[in-house]
Amino acid sequence: ATPTAIMVGVGKGAENNILIKDAESLEVGYRVNAVVLDKTGTITEGRPIVTDLVWAVSETEQAQLKAILYALESQSEHPLAEAITTYLADVKPVALDKFESVTGRGVTAHYQNHTYFIGNQILLADQQTAPSDTLTQQAMHLQNQAKTVVFMGRLDQDTQTGDVLAIIAIADPVKASSKQAIDTLQNRGIEVYMLTGDNAQTAAAVSKQVGIKQYRAETMPADKANFVKELQAAGKVVAMVGDGINDSQALAQADVSIAMGRGSDIAMDVARMTLITSDLISVPKALQLSKQTVRVIR
Ligand code: ADP
Ligand code: MG
Repeated sequence: ATPTAIMVGVGKGAENNILIKDAESLEVGYRVNAVVLDKTGTITEGRPIVTDLVWAVSETEQAQLKAILYALESQSEHPLAEAITTYLADVKPVALDKFESVTGRGVTAHYQNHTYFIGNQILLADQQTAPSDTLTQQAMHLQNQAKTVVFMGRLDQDTQTGDVLAIIAIADPVKASSKQAIDTLQNRGIEVYMLTGDNAQTAAAVSKQVGIKQYRAETMPADKANFVKELQAAGKVVAMVGDGINDSQALAQADVSIAMGRGSDIAMDVARMTLITSDLISVPKALQLSKQTVRVIR
């Protein structure tokens, strides 16, 4: 495109809440035939709320465990942790040792002669702990409602026996316009994919709500980037849309990178386009803008 066409495109973007950092994005955007969307904060609101706390222990044990749960999550910066500490706002935390945050899995710490952990099934497996069949069924039921379920467990350091103590279900509703935005892209013949660090069951429920057929669950930041690479190797021109630190590798890999407004600074730093709005409708708009910009001179 000519410099003038690009200036016009950048200006039109700004009018539509699309900040274009790199004019080259405008020249590539019209060729995009695969769009990869992060789940949390991109397709969903990204403001998770605890809906269920299901205990697998007696009521007398719950008070202390709540204090441990609160203490663990108050040291984590994950949005799920914020949902849990907000839910337990009136609990007094205990002092824990050896807090650790395990990327893509959860958090662990020591208290008395136990290791306590909160996170996904992979974290449970790491700690040689498995939920009972009843608890697994309850978790699946909640996950089928598109909720994220995390497990609280404990490992006895002397006997190395593990227990699952509770499950916590967290809802993060899909944004009002996500489905429409995804429909618009698909109607233009663009393939749409979803990537998430969340579990497969919840991923399936969310992707179904918005009409995405292809998704990958339990992805780590490098997996997200590799997925983009795989699409590129298959000849696709890929736009990646994300909001988190865990999306920045994939954003850097994509042909066109779009950060959601209100996302992490790192995502906005890496991405060549930033949407000031959190509305996913801006994604098809941004790609359309590219088409118009390039068409001016073709
Ligand atoms: P995403 O943001 O895409 O959900 P993450 O990699 O941040 O992916 O997290 C993946 C999963 O790890 C979460 O769905 C959750 O099960 C678990 N997890 C991460 N941090 C925490 C935490 N502080 N408390 C409980 N679970 C956590
Ligand atoms: Mg996210």
